[in-house]
Amino acid sequence: MTASGTILIVEDNEQSIELVKELLEEVGFQTLEAEDADASIRLAKQEHPDLILMDIYMPGKNGYEVSQTLKSNPETQDIPIVAFTALATEKDRQRAEAAGCIGVISKPIDVDTFASTVSSFLLDSQNNTGVLIPTPIFASPALADPEKEFLLKLSHDLQGPIRKIHQFSSWLKKSTAEKLSPEDQGYLKGIDRATQQIQDVLTNALTEFRSSRE
Ligand code: MN
Repeated sequence: MTASGTILIVEDNEQSIELVKELLEEVGFQTLEAEDADASIRLAKQEHPDLILMDIYMPGKNGYEVSQTLKSNPETQDIPIVAFTALATEKDRQRAEAAGCIGVISKPIDVDTFASTVSSFLLDSQNNTGVLIPTPIFASPALADPEKEFLLKLSHDLQGPIRKIHQFSSWLKKSTAEKLSPEDQGYLKGIDRATQQIQDVLTNALTEFRSSRE
């Protein structure tokens, strides 16, 4: 398959950006990246991409709010937006639709079909300018569960900060190990282990939430 067009990837997870970018560029799309709400609004105005892949859970302004902002601005309102979310519950889909998105792609992505799904969203939007595609894209079994959504958002948003603390403690451990007293080395090891543990807990929680979607 060969695709053309520019896709703006809005996503706060660096690993996810890398994968999505690779899959889209492989088939011929050009990509732009934004890691937060402000950058995505700025890039949408400046570059006017052909389609926006909008992460929903980001620290700060979420993807629904950003979509609404883009849809209410004449400069960006015609850019099709596809919500990109881990928890594609019925409520998520309704909120995405209400925010002006043309569809939802759920995470984790299927690497074999991802690029062609994006491509078909783009083609659909070009054929039906300004028209929402209510089915079958938004049709999905109901699985509204506010507690689960809250825990998913919490786990998701804690990942970034914890990763940064862990990276710093690992670096500190490597670069200063010899200069520290055994007691201080022990503290540092403790922080390193603790942050690793928290990361594992969050990863497990997110995996569980995602698999319970089915
Ligand atoms: Mn995210």
